[in-house]
Amino acid sequence: MKVSNRKRVLVTGGAGFLGSHLCERMLNDGNDVLCVDNFYSGTKDNIAHLMGNPYFELMRHDVCFPLHVEVDEIYNLACPASPVHYQSDPIQTTKTSVLGAMNMLGLAKRNKAKILQASTSEVYGDPEVHPQKESYWGHVNTIGIRSCYDEGKRCAETLFFDYKRQHDVDIKVVRIFNTYGSRMHPNDGRVVSNFIVQALRGEDITIYGDGSQTRSFCFADDLIEGFVRMMASDKGVTGPINIGNPGEFTMIELAQAILKQVGGQSKLVFKPLPQDDPKQRRPDITLAKHHLNWEPKINLDAGLEKTIAYFKKFLAL
Ligand code: NAD
Ligand code: UDP
Ligand code: UDP
Repeated sequence: MKVSNRKRVLVTGGAGFLGSHLCERMLNDGNDVLCVDNFYSGTKDNIAHLMGNPYFELMRHDVCFPLHVEVDEIYNLACPASPVHYQSDPIQTTKTSVLGAMNMLGLAKRNKAKILQASTSEVYGDPEVHPQKESYWGHVNTIGIRSCYDEGKRCAETLFFDYKRQHDVDIKVVRIFNTYGSRMHPNDGRVVSNFIVQALRGEDITIYGDGSQTRSFCFADDLIEGFVRMMASDKGVTGPINIGNPGEFTMIELAQAILKQVGGQSKLVFKPLPQDDPKQRRPDITLAKHHLNWEPKINLDAGLEKTIAYFKKFLAL
């Protein structure tokens, strides 16, 4: 039985990059936060500053196994997000996406809790429709090295909508486009952290392929605001809804933007393009604007400035 007015919020993957920002926001908003993580790609460092707060609780747990707790809202973020991490144990990645979703949906059903799924622009695969609208069904290889993540996340979306149809679970699905900011793991191979760390260390900037592929980069604070608005939306708003920044940049442009701020002697070097690497990606955010009154506020240069400052401190440069 609930005896406090504080909402009890579960954040799975709460010790990761986005999860840690979300835990912080949930505490600042006056909630009672349970962070569940198995530390596969997250770290205690990301949440160490929250540990003294009596309304913050950390549980080491793998979401592939059932979890019996009493909560009002669930943000399901548990899943490695960078290609290097999700490809290092691909079977575990599929299990986390699918079994994790099933367990968290079972938990939501029993608790009559709202549940938000951190889905991804990867459900669009290597998109043939540009920019990507939620109505696009995607272009995904079922047997490639990215499939564990892409198909895992697609199956999780299916489970969310079947729990809605079969059990009337109050679901919210957001499709996150590339997001960056403080607490990204410096070795997880994502492009923003790689380029910033390389630039700060004066190392070569590794461009995969010819660098003409595009991505759209959203700053973490903007994304978290989108999560919160989605969770607060009317029951009829289930998504999927794209959350991302529609600014679109080639990897060469991203490298130049970072080098302009960092300065230094780094050169661009070209490396092979990984298999199935999407050629282009940009969210159509019409639905987010309409249903959530949300759009990103922080442009690439401003977000990079904050992220570079974080990595400078982190690397003690
Ligand atoms: P991250 O790797 O920093 O965080 C994921 C967290 O989940 C980590 O703390 C990890 O230890 C934890 N985790 C992994 N497997 C788990 C398991 N079986 N049980 C419990 N915890 C587990 O990644 P992130 O960038 O913070 O991504 C968070 C979520 O957002 C992921 O679901 C990801 O798919 C989604 N997403 C992120 C982006 C992005 O650009 N950052 C883009 C699209 C989708
Ligand atoms: N589950 C859980 N916590 C709960 C309720 C369920 O982890 O509080 C798990 C449960 O063990 C099962 C999954 O969620 O593996 C799906 O539960 P559901 O009740 O939908 O299905 P069933 O138990 O009938 O398979
Ligand atoms: N990339 C790159 N150099 C790097 C890391 C990544 O050129 O050091 C490219 C990668 O090939 C992809 C893009 O940057 O085209 C984004 O990669 P990331 O791993 O960050 O995310 P995702 O491919 O999942 O969008």
